[in-house]
Amino acid sequence: MNHDDLAKWSRRAADWARDYHANLRKRPVRPPVTPGQLAARLPGAPPEQPEPMEDIFADFEALVPDATTHWQHPRFFAYFPANAAPASMLAEQLANAIAGQAMLWETAPAANEIETVMIRWLAAALGLPARFAGTIHDSATTATLCAILTMRERALEWRGNRAGLSAAPRIRIYASDQTHSSIDKGIRIAGIGQENLVKIPTRASLAMDTEALDAAIRADRTAGHLPAGVIACAGGTSVGAFDDIAATLEVARSHGLYTHVDAAWAGSAMIAPEFRRLWKGVEGADSIVFNPHKWLGAQFDCAVQFLADPAPQINTLGLRPDYLQSLGQNEITNYNEWTIPLGRRFRALKLWFVLRAYGLEGLRARIRNHVKWAGEAHDAIARLPGFTIVTAPVLSLFTFRYRNSDTATEALLRRINDDGRIYLTQTSHRGKFVIRMQVGQFDCTRADVMSVPEVLTDLTRAG
Ligand SMILES: *Cc1c(COP(=O)(O)O)cnc(C)c1O
Repeated sequence: MNHDDLAKWSRRAADWARDYHANLRKRPVRPPVTPGQLAARLPGAPPEQPEPMEDIFADFEALVPDATTHWQHPRFFAYFPANAAPASMLAEQLANAIAGQAMLWETAPAANEIETVMIRWLAAALGLPARFAGTIHDSATTATLCAILTMRERALEWRGNRAGLSAAPRIRIYASDQTHSSIDKGIRIAGIGQENLVKIPTRASLAMDTEALDAAIRADRTAGHLPAGVIACAGGTSVGAFDDIAATLEVARSHGLYTHVDAAWAGSAMIAPEFRRLWKGVEGADSIVFNPHKWLGAQFDCAVQFLADPAPQINTLGLRPDYLQSLGQNEITNYNEWTIPLGRRFRALKLWFVLRAYGLEGLRARIRNHVKWAGEAHDAIARLPGFTIVTAPVLSLFTFRYRNSDTATEALLRRINDDGRIYLTQTSHRGKFVIRMQVGQFDCTRADVMSVPEVLTDLTRAG
């Protein structure tokens, strides 16, 4: 295959993509396949001789779509969305065509400078002060790991990077019991240890008890431990919990701790000013992460980390060996020094395309609709016999139970997803099995959202 063939097949792929998206509603959201079924249909070894692209493409069409969970399906209400607006897909194709590597300014000037400008655009779009710098990572997990490593090194005055942790005091990091498992993972990778992630209980509002936070930091200091940072939750994955960001950051600041806000999902909603009360005080954070790949339409992967001051993170992660010097240009931004991998994709291009192709008003209209329709679906489900709402909508996320029973709720969820018209997932809340519903797919309509109470009615009436 050469570049002429690539052009021909790219046109074929573009037509295939259009038909795939046009017909998504006819497909079950989650495919009716069992583990191992697809693998069993592939040869055990790679071919010795080249195969015609016709055959490869035909096998793709025959095997892949029917064994795919369709994240772009308009009736995908599981997890959180991973939206891919068409304009972002186009940008990815162009980034693929260039196939550059954006580790240094010198290796990708356009990617580097568009990234800087997109961070500025997004800070303004979310109502953050213009002083925030930032960078783009693959995932919120990576951004949070960077923030945790920065907390560790800042507290150790960068001794950890030099001497390791064996002689260090116990580093302590604080977060609520509603935070995402990516924080636990980051704590483990950073060598801090799960036992030193102090999970502060939440109040009835699901916000961290800030008095308990203050007491925990004081007790740790007295015990000779080293408090290093606080991670605040702005839209928890389970049921959408929000900490009182202003109060949480205030406690952290009073103890001189570094702060990171995890707004991976909810951050996108902050392009609409009426939702910003949910993370009031966020401008006081040292670091904030949000995933434009979730709710803003930038194809996976794309996680934005804002930094009030990039210096501590660069001091933690930045290395500049001889072979990565840009001769005569020592003052430029080289984003690999802000992130974990050296190699970096040109992710800023899809943000540029999405923000321009839909405009902030177009993106706000979608998110506002999602929140409104989630409220309508919530009201309809609350009225269905046998159903109880467990957590009320936070933005577009709420949870419910059936017959107030773990077994009945779980059995119903299995039937819903085997049925395939819609896709929902579960969590546990205060010890109870609940079904989560979130609305956020880029192309979903009110009718798609209201199909959820219809399917629930159907499946529970049938027995
Ligand atoms: C989705 C999510 C994450 C993890 O995001 P990745 O980009 O997949 O690592 C972290 N925190 C919250 C609140 C999330 O919703």
